[in-house]
Amino acid sequence: MSFLEDLVIASRTCAEAGVIDAYGHVSARSESNPNRYFMARAIAPELITEADLLEYDLDSRPVVEGGPAGYNERYIHGEIYKARPDVNAIVHNHSHAVVPFSCTDCRLRPIFHMAAFIGLGIPNWDIREAQAGSDMLVRNAMLGRSLADKLGKHPAALMRGHGSVVVGEKIQIAVGRTVYLDHNAKMQFQAMQMSGGNPDAVVYMDDGEVAANVAWQEYVRSWDLWKKKWQARLAAERTA
Ligand SMILES: [Zn+2]
Repeated sequence: MSFLEDLVIASRTCAEAGVIDAYGHVSARSESNPNRYFMARAIAPELITEADLLEYDLDSRPVVEGGPAGYNERYIHGEIYKARPDVNAIVHNHSHAVVPFSCTDCRLRPIFHMAAFIGLGIPNWDIREAQAGSDMLVRNAMLGRSLADKLGKHPAALMRGHGSVVVGEKIQIAVGRTVYLDHNAKMQFQAMQMSGGNPDAVVYMDDGEVAANVAWQEYVRSWDLWKKKWQARLAAERTA
């Protein structure tokens, strides 16, 4: 199992879970140089192989010039890696369940134990704070910095009308948090509907429960399952 294969599997797992569509992306900080990160060329995550992975510096410039086009929004990743030395993996996703929480005053809160990290706080970044009349995409370093500032020390930030960015010390944590952020959003919406739309009638995890859970939750069993499943599929693709 190589680092680059982990990144391929992370991308494919998020795509299969429906949390990144053709436009989301996963990156990982280089294991050998903390001032660089890897991310695929501009391609749908479900199609990524190791051959599609490009290396970038933290200004999001490709280390090898003249290669294939990268994602327009790669500045999300470079600017967060600069601001957060503790972060080694980032997922930018367009979860449909999460977006409504970014454009209403209904706050995303931890309802499900696998998403306890939400209790650490999920700020909501509105691109208008940085640029009026944008096309909503993080197309440059200024916008990436603004998002990284809003993220602060938190595990994720919503992006108003767009999606979210989720970070982790390890690839498996960033992926696990991304998948369970989506599940929690769906469950919270269901619970609020069952409570007549009253968010205060829902029981959320409290701060003590959040702290006890995030102290150990690294999505180990989920990652082991996703890895085994995708290793078999990738091997079959290579021999097809
Ligand atoms: Zn996006």
